[in-house]
Amino acid sequence: QSLSSAREPPHPSCTPSAFRARMRTVAALLVASATAASAFTAPRLARAPRAVRPAAARQPAVIMAAEKKKKVVVLGGDGFCGWPTTLHLSDAGHEVIMVDNLSRRNIDIELGCSSLTPIESPEVRCKAWKEVSGKDVRFVNIDVAQEYHVMLKFLEDEKPDVVIHFGEQRAAPYSMRNDKAKRYTIDNNLSGTHNLLCAIVESGLDIHMVHLGTMGVYGYGTSGGEIPEGYIDVILPGGRPSKILHPAYPGSIYHATKVLDATLFQFYNKNDGLRITDLHQGIVWGTNTPQTVQDERLINRFDYDGDYGTVLNRFLMQSALGIPLTVYGTGGQTRAPIHI
Ligand code: NAD
Repeated sequence: QSLSSAREPPHPSCTPSAFRARMRTVAALLVASATAASAFTAPRLARAPRAVRPAAARQPAVIMAAEKKKKVVVLGGDGFCGWPTTLHLSDAGHEVIMVDNLSRRNIDIELGCSSLTPIESPEVRCKAWKEVSGKDVRFVNIDVAQEYHVMLKFLEDEKPDVVIHFGEQRAAPYSMRNDKAKRYTIDNNLSGTHNLLCAIVESGLDIHMVHLGTMGVYGYGTSGGEIPEGYIDVILPGGRPSKILHPAYPGSIYHATKVLDATLFQFYNKNDGLRITDLHQGIVWGTNTPQTVQDERLINRFDYDGDYGTVLNRFLMQSALGIPLTVYGTGGQTRAPIHI
């Protein structure tokens, strides 16, 4: 995702009514073609680095059954990555609670756009999943950036084994729209991440936190070689050996929040022994998964607008509609997309 907000207007041959009709066709095709989503690959959770446990003993988390099914909270569970992850984990037998403040749906209203696929409310989604799979997924509306005490009480009551943190404003172009969007992105993402870390410590629970960062924290120029995973050994000026996070070079306010998240993770791991996995992966693309195709009410969102529509989703739409692809920046960027 480049930061340029330059957008090309629809091709002149696309009259508004013809455009809308073709959009409906593409939407129907997306729903139908999703049944062939056999190429689904589950998000691979990287092994957590072994944290040094703090002296103060943490309460063991609730291990649900002998087969080690986990209780998982998916924060941002109503979103593009959160909803399929929720269903995937529920399908695998874990107890899943999705937490979301529905801010992404409000941003749709603010931008005057919407998911190409007709997404249902979280309540209808959960009901449909129960009917299809017999499994319960609960939805809880919490603003993790604003409602610290509600979040803390929720963790203390539910005692999850894992919190997957997807609950952030995630569009680089949106984060650069204006001062309001910049401040919202910083306030929302950093307060949310910090509230969660703080609440985990305060709860005294041994919760493993998994967060999705982005490759964009390293900048979008060339790194000149492989980006090592985890901490790297370096020699500082004066010949001093050190272990550091890879140097960051964010290109937007959104990417800056992910860089600052990583510093908070490093601190809470060092200071409080929190178990944290921060994944820095590429763009996620696609629509459905083996779970979301089972009922139309379970369909995942598909963004194709200039802010939230990531590059492959936009290109898919534009190709299907026969209009020119919108290239941001030079078009010389290299990315490693991952299918949902
Ligand atoms: P999304 O916008 O579709 O989903 C994010 C969800 O979090 C939304 O449903 C939103 O309502 C919720 N949310 C935001 N702020 C919240 C708050 N304060 N409290 C509670 N809920 C809140 O985004 P996504 O594409 O599903 O991305 C999920 C995560 O993965 C993000 O952190 C994003 O940065 C990261 N990521 C996504 C991609 C991608 O290509 N989609 C790539 C790299 C990283």
